[in-house]
Amino acid sequence: MTDPLAADHSVYKTLLESTNAIPWKIDWATMQFTYIGPQIETLLGWSQDSWASAQDWAARMHPDDQAWVVDYCVSQSRDGKDHEADYRAMHKDGSYVWIRDVVHVVRNEDGSANSLIGFMFDISERKRTEEKLITLQKELEELSFKDGLTGIANRRMFDKVFELEWANAMRNHQPLSVIMLDIDYFKQYNDHYGHIQGDDSLKRVGQVLSGAATRSRDFLARFGGEEFVLVLPETDEESAKKVAERCRSLIFKAQIPHAASPVSQMLTLSLGVSTIIPAHKDTAMVFIDEVDRRLYHAKQKGRNCIV
Ligand code: GH3
Ligand code: MG
Ligand code: MG
Repeated sequence: MTDPLAADHSVYKTLLESTNAIPWKIDWATMQFTYIGPQIETLLGWSQDSWASAQDWAARMHPDDQAWVVDYCVSQSRDGKDHEADYRAMHKDGSYVWIRDVVHVVRNEDGSANSLIGFMFDISERKRTEEKLITLQKELEELSFKDGLTGIANRRMFDKVFELEWANAMRNHQPLSVIMLDIDYFKQYNDHYGHIQGDDSLKRVGQVLSGAATRSRDFLARFGGEEFVLVLPETDEESAKKVAERCRSLIFKAQIPHAASPVSQMLTLSLGVSTIIPAHKDTAMVFIDEVDRRLYHAKQKGRNCIV
């Protein structure tokens, strides 16, 4: 049986020119286009016969892609290797279209390049999806480090920041202070005002505490439930105490009513403060336990105080 396509050049032509991919051919010796599909005009605006040489191809490319794409394609072709490259092709109107160029090297008997034939695919839709995914990923990352209710950092973020500051303090022999803050009689608050208002007050406390520490590396997180934590790098005990005092006084000034509290008519906090210049024998966990122990001590002393 004879090959029906072999006899009919126009069948090839019709097939090539009816696909979304744009076929092209370049003669290696002269670097001239010997063919490019007419679909190129639909995709990029430049007419079919305006594609004369590889120069035209290189010139119609995003400046940031030009150098590496041209270098890469030339070196691969010279080595006789099939290859592909993703780049931004310039539309006649000045905008850019993401293209995947898939290149096959046709070789002479001696292995040297004779011509390049390839297909250009429009991959802008895929690139847009990729970019959207990256944006979503970033948002997700942000969300997963943020407490949904109060909008401040969550426990996960605290763990990361604290680990980093612990290592910094150890390396630089600097004091690191931590303040744990717990709302007094918050169970009674919920029982008295309801959970919705409880949530609102937690948000309010988060906002107020955000203003208590002012240095750029000071860090506030919701530690859990109605408990907050402040990390104060390069801060000695005296200064940490002052920050703790400021927390208490800011919450007092906010005057959040707590009619069910046995210690005050307003919402109050108990605070545990501790400072350490970490040595190698110290562990972060033991230190945090110590801060927690002091907070517990503040509760035992009658609440609304700092230990
Ligand atoms: P103490 O003075 O000893 O700290 O007493 P407390 O009642 O504050 O302490 P306890 O740990 O017994 O109770 C904490 C309460 O905080 C229990 C829980 O209902 C409330 N709580 C924790 N997380 C949330 C929250 O996200 N929203 C609301 N509305 N309440 C919360
Ligand atoms: Mg409490
Ligand atoms: Mg608690």
